[in-house]
Amino acid sequence: MSPGPTRVAEEVLLKMADTIIHHRTPQFVSVLKSVNEKLKKVFGTNNPVCTFASSGTGAMEASIVNFLSKGDKAIIIRGGKFGERFGEICLAYGVEAINYDVPWGEGCNATVVAGLLEKNPGVKAVYSTLAETSTGVVNDIKQLGAIVSKTGAILIVDAISGLTADEMKADEWGVDVIVGGSQKGLMLPPGLGFMSVSPKAQKFIETSNLPKFYFNLKEALKAYAKDDTPWTPAVSLIMGLDSILDMILKEGVDATLARHAKLAEATRSAVKALGLELYPKSPSNAVTTVKVPSNIDGAAIVKKLRDEQGITIAGGQDVLTGKVFRIAHLGYMDEYDTISAIAGLEIVLSQLGYKFEFGKGVGKAIEMFAKSAK
Ligand SMILES: *Cc1c(COP(=O)(O)O)cnc(C)c1O
Repeated sequence: MSPGPTRVAEEVLLKMADTIIHHRTPQFVSVLKSVNEKLKKVFGTNNPVCTFASSGTGAMEASIVNFLSKGDKAIIIRGGKFGERFGEICLAYGVEAINYDVPWGEGCNATVVAGLLEKNPGVKAVYSTLAETSTGVVNDIKQLGAIVSKTGAILIVDAISGLTADEMKADEWGVDVIVGGSQKGLMLPPGLGFMSVSPKAQKFIETSNLPKFYFNLKEALKAYAKDDTPWTPAVSLIMGLDSILDMILKEGVDATLARHAKLAEATRSAVKALGLELYPKSPSNAVTTVKVPSNIDGAAIVKKLRDEQGITIAGGQDVLTGKVFRIAHLGYMDEYDTISAIAGLEIVLSQLGYKFEFGKGVGKAIEMFAKSAK
C-alpha cells in the first residue's frame, strides 16, 4: 500500500521469469512494436513514448538534457520533493530555474505560471508533477496546459505516480512531454523510465546543447521509429510491460482511472470517519496523505503496520517526516486491499493510544463499496 514500488501481478512475474530472448531479433522487435503501440494508449498520447532502462528520475533528467541548453530558463513548479527534483537537475546542468514555490499540500495555480511566463519571456519549458507523491496533491494540468500551449515554451509533466490513477489527457490538454516510471501505476518492478515527446518538443531537441549520452533522445527516437532501442533494453522488464499493458487495456484506461478514484474516495472517507485529517487540499487518486494526530508517533504508525500487520504504507518525507502517513491505492489492488489497510490502521492507531470508535473507518469504506457495487 505504498505509492511505489507497487505490487506486481503474478502473471506479470511469470512472464518476466521466462527465457530472456535476444534483443536484436524479430521476436523482440515484435514485442517492442506491440509495447510501443500500447504505451501510447495508456499514456493517452499519439506521440512516441520512449522507454529507458532507468528509474523514473532518469527520464526526468532526459526531459531536461534533451530540450534545454546551458543558461536557458525553465519554470519549476515546486510543491514537494519531486517538483524540487526537477530544479536540482536544472542546477546540475546549468539551466536557470525560475522556481514557483507552491505551499506544500496545495496544488499549483496556473495564473501564477501565466504571470511568470509573461515576466520571463525567454522561458523554454515549464516543469510540473501530475501527482506530487510526497504531499499527495494532484496538480491541475489541464489549466497549466491551456496557458503553456499558447506560448513558445513546452510543458513537461512528471506523471510517474499519477499515471493510471489521476486523469491526464496529455494531447488534448497540451502536455508536450509525459515522464513515467515502471514501479508505480504501471505495476512493474523498478527499472524502466518513460518519456513521450510532442512535435513541439521534438523541435527543441535540435537546439539543445546540454551534455547527454545514454539519454540522447535523437538516438532513442531514431531507434524507436524502427521498434528498436539504441542500447540493450531491459528485456525482462519489457516482457513484463507487454503483459501489464494488456491487463490495463483489458480493464480499460477509463475503468482503471475509475477504480483508482473509487479506492481513493473510500480511503479518504474512511480516515475522515476515524477523525483524521487529510493533508492535501486537492488530493490525488494515487495516494492519500493523512495528518498524524497530535500526541501520536507518526513513525510508529508506519513501522507497526509494516512489522506487525504486514502492511507497507509510507511515512512523510523531508519536513513532513513523522507528521503525515501515506496510504496508496495505486496499481494492482482492489476494495479488499483498501479495507485491509484501513483495518490495520485502526488496530495500530488504537495500540498507539488514539481514541476512536472501532470499525468507523472500515465501516465507511465497506458502506461506500457496497453502494457502488454493480
Ligand atoms: C517515485 C517518483 C519519482 C522518482 O522516481 P524513481 O523511479 O525513484 O527515480 C519521481 N516523481 C514522482 C512524482 C514519483 O512519485
